[in-house]
Amino acid sequence: MKKTLYCLILFLICILSACGNTDESYSNDYVSNVTTASTSVSTTVTTEHIHKWAEADCLSPKTCLDCGKTEGKKGGHTWQEATCTKPKTCTVCGKTKGKALGHKWKKATCTKPKTCSVCGTTKGDALGHKWEKATCLSPKKCSVCGKAKGEKAEHKIGYGGSCVYCGQKMITDDKSLEEYLNNKYSEGVTTPLGDVKNLSITVYKGTTNYESYDYCIKIDDALTIIEYNYEYSREYTQSQKNETANILKNYVKNMADDVISIFPDKKVTGGFYYSYYKYPHIKEGYTSNYNLTWTNYELDSLGYVPREYNENIYPSGFRWASKLDEIEW
Ligand SMILES: [Zn+2]
Ligand SMILES: [Zn+2]
Ligand SMILES: [Zn+2]
Ligand SMILES: [Zn+2]
Ligand SMILES: [Zn+2]
Repeated sequence: MKKTLYCLILFLICILSACGNTDESYSNDYVSNVTTASTSVSTTVTTEHIHKWAEADCLSPKTCLDCGKTEGKKGGHTWQEATCTKPKTCTVCGKTKGKALGHKWKKATCTKPKTCSVCGTTKGDALGHKWEKATCLSPKKCSVCGKAKGEKAEHKIGYGGSCVYCGQKMITDDKSLEEYLNNKYSEGVTTPLGDVKNLSITVYKGTTNYESYDYCIKIDDALTIIEYNYEYSREYTQSQKNETANILKNYVKNMADDVISIFPDKKVTGGFYYSYYKYPHIKEGYTSNYNLTWTNYELDSLGYVPREYNENIYPSGFRWASKLDEIEW
């Protein structure tokens, strides 16, 4: 009986052990199946990848941002032509090529500054007009562009008594000569021995046989003090006196030359002159005072200005006629 029980126990152990083995084998098969299924799912996702395209640009074709796949060609630069200040430039990427063209400058004018003929850029200021004085022929005028402004001017009397602009003879008689001389010479001169200023000049027309001239030009005497200083003063040096004589002589000579040029065919005499009566209330003691007397015609045999008209004597150039002068300057 004891032996039978032992056998039974042994049998049971055997069965139990076999049971354990079966369990283990089933478990292994299950894991294997699950692994196979998982691999198949992963393959399906790869097939469905959607590209994220970046558009083609100057340097790259259309490209996927994720996988780097490309498609088509690169775009190339979109060039904008060079200008005065910018080189040829790609409007897309900003790349440049070559140099800016530089401005094509047109010179400044009276009214416009230096300007680029292509883009209109300006530099500096307009030059401004260069005005030339108005004349009797034309108003004030720009010497560069010719623009005129304002009114014409009066005639301007030049040497010889004609208008320096239009040539018209402006001084034709004693009256116009007198006006001209007073305008030009009445201011007078300054000398080391005193001023000879605000002079009045009178033109006389010779009309009788007792006047040897056609015109006589008298400068009212303003030399009284200077005459006195010249002859008697010890306050002035001889060189101051000499300088005074020269200034006065030049003043008279310039006026004489001017008159001679205006009336080359007229016999003319002139100088500083005044006259007075010593006893004015009875008109007695008539006195004349001459200084720096001149003529443009022959003097008489004694060296005086002739007393009578002589139609055979012609104008023959300036000379002093100092025989009657108060002072030998
Ligand atoms: Zn992609
Ligand atoms: Zn570009
Ligand atoms: Zn320009
Ligand atoms: Zn101008
Ligand atoms: Zn004129």
